[in-house]
Amino acid sequence: MNTSSTRSSTATTVQDTQVADAWHALLDDVAQEQVALLRELAHSAPPSLAEHFYAGMLDDPRASRFLSSEQVQSRLKPSMLRWITNLLTSGPDDVDAQIAEQRLIGDVHARIGIPVDLVIRGTRMLKHQLYRHIINVAPPELASATIALVSDLFDLALEMMSHAYSVARERSTRLDASYRMFSLIQNIGTERERQRALLLDWENALLYRYASAPVDVGTAPQLAQSEFGLWFSHKGLPSFGDTAETRQVSALIASIDDLVSSPGENPSTSLPSIRAQLAQTRALIGMLFDNIGALEAGRDALTSLLNRRFLPTVLRREVALASESSGGFSVLLLDLDHFKAINDAHGHDGGDRALQHVAANLAQHTRSSDYLFRFGGEEFVMVLGSVSADQAVAIADELRERIAASPVTMSDGSKVPVTASIGVAVHDGHPDYERVLARADAAMYQAKRNGRNRVELATAAMVEPPGSRLLSAR
Ligand code: GH3
Ligand code: MG
Ligand code: MG
Repeated sequence: MNTSSTRSSTATTVQDTQVADAWHALLDDVAQEQVALLRELAHSAPPSLAEHFYAGMLDDPRASRFLSSEQVQSRLKPSMLRWITNLLTSGPDDVDAQIAEQRLIGDVHARIGIPVDLVIRGTRMLKHQLYRHIINVAPPELASATIALVSDLFDLALEMMSHAYSVARERSTRLDASYRMFSLIQNIGTERERQRALLLDWENALLYRYASAPVDVGTAPQLAQSEFGLWFSHKGLPSFGDTAETRQVSALIASIDDLVSSPGENPSTSLPSIRAQLAQTRALIGMLFDNIGALEAGRDALTSLLNRRFLPTVLRREVALASESSGGFSVLLLDLDHFKAINDAHGHDGGDRALQHVAANLAQHTRSSDYLFRFGGEEFVMVLGSVSADQAVAIADELRERIAASPVTMSDGSKVPVTASIGVAVHDGHPDYERVLARADAAMYQAKRNGRNRVELATAAMVEPPGSRLLSAR
């Protein structure tokens, strides 16, 4: 699958290291009898913990929105118990795995959008139940030392989870935010030309000045104060957002202004450097406009279908809609069959032509309420609102037939047949949108295994674990 996974769960950050150090320090100090008590606790207490957890949480309407689905209850219970058991029984060698697990949970919480205070409340309830067990079974001294240990373990887990949560949330809201801020720039094409002209004007004025008069440092024109500079700080930055490119432009402006205001003995010696930096600034601004142009369109350049990075936004909204109304949604994941052979026989351009042909065919037969994304190389995702499983399968099969019935005409006039394997998954009420996508993916692979050019509906047996390779929280 053509997925570039940049999950936060795989990157190591300062926070990871700090939490890992604290975790090691904590576990290095644990007495044998505490280890034995924790093991005993992990094996005897958990089942009642889950009941207690649900009884407490479902009282809150906000929490019940996330927990009431049958899917969540049937999955969350065992995974929560596993989480507690692992947390209580892991040793110094398991710290990295523990950290990775907490990050994964934080990512899932972020995708679902569960409020942090509910997570904290849940862990507090679990902790207190465990304390009660400890007091019941252990002598006072051992009990208090073990309670302190359990408290620290939960805090470390929560700290790691919260960190992953905030990183993932920030990333997903950044896209929306820059999308909104974009409206500050009304016309990208015009603005782009205007800013380019303003930068050139400023450079010309500077050249003229250096050529015609001795440079007076006190009144040297500052790029930051020019019309371009003011536009950049007031409108450009908030519209483009905080990126490597915008930071570089800010640094270039500061550096140019430095050179201009302290030109040294012979000002013309700094001129080549100033001009080189201005050229770099122009190139970067051009790139930023390109990026925001792509964002505005939100479309894939080759096929004009929606870009997959907006898929989380769409799925999150469909999940929310499904929880408010009775109608569910379905996801179709479509992968073209033996596409490498088309590339091999007709070159990459021929392959591109085939992709455009299939994309146009799909777009033509998509209801206006549905979404069609280019998901990867020769993979497409369709999100169908308000359909039953039967309807979704029927729609998928119709698309499959249309694709098979419409060969691609290559530039030499030859006709090349193309077929697709389609996986269908119906949203099952689970608030994590990645699950439904993972199930569609599993069904698509099943269609491949069963001979290609066919449709398969996801079944429970195909379910993949959450946090898999499909959607990075980018
Ligand atoms: P399968 O039936 O198992 O899907 O076989 P396949 O050959 O389609 O295999 P796979 O899906 O793994 O490979 C997809 C190929 O699509 C790999 C890559 O060379 C090609 N591809 C991906 N993106 C593009 C693109 O944008 N243009 C072209 N021309 N080819 C692409
Ligand atoms: Mg593929
Ligand atoms: Mg393929």
